[in-house]
Amino acid sequence: LVKGLEALRDQPCETTDGRRMPLWVNTGLLADVHRSLNHGAEGVGLYRSEVPFMVMERFPSEKEQQATYREQLQAFHPQPVTMRTLDVGGDKPLSYFPIKEENPFLGWRGIRVTLDHPDIFLVQVRAMLKAGAGLGNLRILLPMISGLHELEEASHLIHRAWGEVRDEGVDVAMPPIGVMVEVPAAVYQARELARHADFLSIGSNDLTQYLLAVDRNNPRVAELYDYYHPALLQALHKVVQDAHAEGKPVSICGEMAGDPAAAVLLMAMGFDSLSMNANNLPRVKWLLRQVSQQQAQELLTQVQSMDNPQVIRSVVDLYLRNLG
Ligand code: PEP
Ligand code: MG
Repeated sequence: LVKGLEALRDQPCETTDGRRMPLWVNTGLLADVHRSLNHGAEGVGLYRSEVPFMVMERFPSEKEQQATYREQLQAFHPQPVTMRTLDVGGDKPLSYFPIKEENPFLGWRGIRVTLDHPDIFLVQVRAMLKAGAGLGNLRILLPMISGLHELEEASHLIHRAWGEVRDEGVDVAMPPIGVMVEVPAAVYQARELARHADFLSIGSNDLTQYLLAVDRNNPRVAELYDYYHPALLQALHKVVQDAHAEGKPVSICGEMAGDPAAAVLLMAMGFDSLSMNANNLPRVKWLLRQVSQQQAQELLTQVQSMDNPQVIRSVVDLYLRNLG
């Protein structure tokens, strides 16, 4: 089977009736990049920029960041690399920037931190823009957005950083700016967010946690943490429809996208790309190449009338097993 999966590397991810589905990867370290390219990834849907910050003892300088980002952008060029701005707080601590809170997941994390610290944000965005000069494959993604005002404020800062690097003589185009939909408020505002952003990307790890009020890291409630919950499936479908109503592409970059059976449902919902851990990519590709868009649609319709996550999970597994 492993050999068979390897042989798939250069095959397109395409259903039996010809629907193409770009498969992207989530990266953080340079090691992820090589693994991803070996597995035939078509781009990076989520570069977790906090990873290089977490392995240091102080904030990396603009120059250091630029070099790190350049490696990622170059490795995948000309394919797109979606760089998420710093997402610290919650489950992602920085030893040299301690945040003490009673409810860290509901506290100061993601874009909230960087909007309060434009100094950190501007340095990072300048480093990304300089790293992307001459390549043209950089996309910028904003984490933990819960309202339009945050997108507006962040866009304003990105434009300011862009002006600054151009004043320094760097010739770089303004990259597309995307919003992570991972807070329930963003689900309800998906249409407005899509209107003002260039793309959306759903973070199903946090969205599952916040929608179901289940800590993503607490073993005691792990059984309740289920992305097959009908509320989550409905939310995902709504966001896809809202993004498309504004003519904007929408991706998903949580662990769910790397579950082959879930990927079939996500394709049926209309996602424009799926971004996952590189290790899951061959299996997702293999399965999507066994089904037709029509079959995926039928399965989604069937699942949409169900209310129990565990039943949904077994129905999906059974359906796919029956396909062979
Ligand atoms: C997510 O929340 O689904 C996501 C992709 O981001 P992270 O896992 O880094 O929070
Ligand atoms: Mg997240």
